[in-house]
Amino acid sequence: MNEQKQFVATDEAKGQAKQLRIFAALLWIGALVAQIVAIRLILKAVNMEESILNVWTIGLVVLDLALVLIGSMLWKKAGRLDPPSEKNKFLFMLQSQLGVIAAIVAFLPLILFVLTNKNIDGKQKAIFGSIAGVAMLIAGIGSYDFNPPSIEKYTEQINAQTDVIKELNNGVDMVYWTPSGNKLHIYNDCQHVRSSVVSEGTVEQAWQARKIDNNEVCKTCIAKAENAKKAKLNELVE
Ligand SMILES: [Zn+2]
Repeated sequence: MNEQKQFVATDEAKGQAKQLRIFAALLWIGALVAQIVAIRLILKAVNMEESILNVWTIGLVVLDLALVLIGSMLWKKAGRLDPPSEKNKFLFMLQSQLGVIAAIVAFLPLILFVLTNKNIDGKQKAIFGSIAGVAMLIAGIGSYDFNPPSIEKYTEQINAQTDVIKELNNGVDMVYWTPSGNKLHIYNDCQHVRSSVVSEGTVEQAWQARKIDNNEVCKTCIAKAENAKKAKLNELVE
């Protein structure tokens, strides 16, 4: 029975994740402000009996969308550095998909305000409602995390990958990685190891250090290790 590894985010990763989450929250607040300004401009246009469709109101919808999406991008990145636990399903869902909630909060009040305002005519309602509706849809889909990371998922992947590496590497749990590369290598002289800065450690250490979504094992290294294994078997047969 192999000992079970456990993914634990480093203090450095946790610190970076916290910063990213603060930036995300600030951007989402910015999106809310853009929405409030848009509502005020629409009210003003209605009072002056002008069209609510102008470069400012549409521009604010676009700004609102951009702020929600950038915020969600940072939020998702933070989750990959310091993933939540799946132990509490509700909290896990909430934290993983907070960007979707931000998208709804950043658009729904504006849409409802325009659609329910008696002083805006039907055609303007339809056009503005469609623009803001499509923006909310894009914001929601763009903010949704289709593969939300979790401590449990990372732990499972580390254990599975440790088994694969040991199988290929004569029972030794040791890999190489570079700061910018996105693969784990079994050989430090692999042709794809181009950086002069090469770190080495167990699969678990590689995952803690690299802070990315997926640590794949280099295909070239896998092929080389498999050939080495076959050669060894042939030697034994002869
Ligand atoms: Zn390699």
